Amino acid sequence: GIKSGEVIVQFKSTCCYCGVGCGVIIETDGQRVVGVKGDLDHPANFGRLCTKGATLHLAVAQNDTRALFPEVREGKLQIRETASWDRALDAAADKFAAIIKEHGPDAVAFYISGQLLTEDYYVFNKLAKGLIGTNNVDTNSRLCMSSAVTGYKSTLGMDAPPASYEDIDHAKCIFIAGSNTAFAHPVIFRRIEDARAKNPDLRLIVVDPRKTDTAQSADLFLPILPGTDVALFNGMLHVMLWEGLCDMAYIRAHTEGFDELKETVREYTPQAVAQMCGIEPESIIQAAKWFGESGATLSFYCQGLNQSSHGTDKNGALINLHLATGQIGKPGAGPFSLTGQANAMGGREVGGMANLLSAHRSLDNPVHRQEMANLWGVDSVPENPGKSAVELFEALHKGEIKAVWIACTNPAHSMPNQTLVREALERAELVVLQEAYRNTDTAAYADILLPAASWSEKEGTVTNSERCITHVIPAVNAPGDARPDWEIMVDFARRLGQRLGKVDAETLFPYQNVEEVFNEHRETTRGRDLDITGLSYALLDQKGPQQWPFPEGATQGKVRLYEEGVFPTASGHARFANAQYLQTAEQTDARYPLHLNTGRLRDQWHSMSRTGSVARLFNHAQEPVVSMHADDMHRRGLKDGDIVRVKSRRGELVIRVQTSIEMRVSQVFIPMHWGGQFMNGAGSNALTTSSFDPVSKQPELKHAAVQVEKLDYG
Ligand code: SF4
Repeated sequence: GIKSGEVIVQFKSTCCYCGVGCGVIIETDGQRVVGVKGDLDHPANFGRLCTKGATLHLAVAQNDTRALFPEVREGKLQIRETASWDRALDAAADKFAAIIKEHGPDAVAFYISGQLLTEDYYVFNKLAKGLIGTNNVDTNSRLCMSSAVTGYKSTLGMDAPPASYEDIDHAKCIFIAGSNTAFAHPVIFRRIEDARAKNPDLRLIVVDPRKTDTAQSADLFLPILPGTDVALFNGMLHVMLWEGLCDMAYIRAHTEGFDELKETVREYTPQAVAQMCGIEPESIIQAAKWFGESGATLSFYCQGLNQSSHGTDKNGALINLHLATGQIGKPGAGPFSLTGQANAMGGREVGGMANLLSAHRSLDNPVHRQEMANLWGVDSVPENPGKSAVELFEALHKGEIKAVWIACTNPAHSMPNQTLVREALERAELVVLQEAYRNTDTAAYADILLPAASWSEKEGTVTNSERCITHVIPAVNAPGDARPDWEIMVDFARRLGQRLGKVDAETLFPYQNVEEVFNEHRETTRGRDLDITGLSYALLDQKGPQQWPFPEGATQGKVRLYEEGVFPTASGHARFANAQYLQTAEQTDARYPLHLNTGRLRDQWHSMSRTGSVARLFNHAQEPVVSMHADDMHRRGLKDGDIVRVKSRRGELVIRVQTSIEMRVSQVFIPMHWGGQFMNGAGSNALTTSSFDPVSKQPELKHAAVQVEKLDYG
């Protein structure tokens, strides 16, 4: 607590949890963070914070879980011992160099995080693709929004949410699909509630297999069967065509591929779709009418569409509805993917994924590769596709990748098919973990642990879900020897470059401060769709957060994209996605008869390294439970609080069971937050499948077939 008379210093920053990217005011006593308030001036939240954001100061106060000093272990059976930065980074560089020399650059990999700042991401990407010559750099954002990326690119030609938060105030219909916005993006949901209070005619449609808090407040709720979203969206388009709700003039002038799509959706009659989705035909017709008639429908969507083996199709089929009704590029209208993590957007901007390059360039485009090689001053950028998250850990398991560098993420907890991922980490010749916390499940596998500075301790930029960039500065010093992520990577890169005989490592990573990294990243965007050449740290400080694009000479960013109906495709037209409904990767059967859904709770964040240390955040849910319909419980002789074993084809976990009115028969839900230390060593991902979308490579974390049986301790 603060003693009276102590001077409180305030710093502007952003919340480090979800992609809403709320502005916060950090209060310090000069040494520690002692309070957090919502930033009244920030365009994301105008002062509001949810329970997680409002307790950030408590989460950082728990320094006993922080990684403070580098640690190294000599062999897999040894324990890690405290080491100097020199020793830890030399050990990492020695091993990386030896593996690269013996097995080639693709024998090493980096697995990074949407928790990193954009500048951190930029340096990681340049290190892997520019210095080492491998595209094996992927991120936990792959688990979160890569289907949104491929959905946008395949239809609109560019990875960018075209609308902004302020469109909530202009919308006449809000369509939420596969998102429990009330829990996962609470401040957005509050903005929706405010808009509804001001405009009683604003309609809210929610599509979700679960009757979530978000669904409970809907004017129309469509509890579709898991994975049937494409059928529903195609069915809605069928109705829109039938009812004359399509904007044929817009379709003719600004799109292509509609005739083929019309043929496809012909079969998706309300009766047929009702059967596929397990809902009433009337609700499909009603949803289509409200969506099509409103003139300003804004769609929010998240993991329900993205974490799917057909995530790209689901995104595309929803974007189709906006294109077909001309509801895009107008106030209150457009498809709007909600970003899970605070800076997953920034990671996309610098190309911090296995298939991307800086400034939304594609790795499979030779011109883009050459542009990046020229910008970085290297001979070439490798052509070999890099491994996406699931592929990366599978390659580690097989021994094809021998060393992995993990930064600010917890794959032993968060990756699907946990058993395989943990085995892979065990088998790896070298696991380097760059982390702010030393209590994660992944930390147990680290041969080298490097303490990273965390929220409130470092400088850089973040981009939220609405393309809005905020400059954040350190409010306090990092504890112990912890350092900013970009700085650790630059230090490592110079050491590795020396060992690989790449004398250019010093010139490749010349940065004296993080602003120089930002300025280099900014230059890579010149002339690109996300051009930010008009931005600088000074401008962001002076004028506050800004949306991209913001090219040189601009005075403000773009609130809305595609207002002229011109799209960044070869023809300038948007392309309709022509997708058929396909079933989930894994089917239920007599042995595994239940559909498992996994997801977030309101008051916890990811694997709880931060929120898990705040007592009041357990008021909402004290422990994990598997939620189940009363009929399914009755059939198994279960009552609330019984301990059950939940089993899939890949693993099992032990957990209490609880009746829930949110669940339909045959479906169960387990929160994703609890991991190894809580449930007999296993979290929800002991059960999930690593099947992934063939285009986006995003795994189907939202669906697995499971069985539930009572554990008899008698
Ligand atoms: Fe933080 Fe998201 Fe809550 Fe805003 S809505 S305070 S960004 S967790």
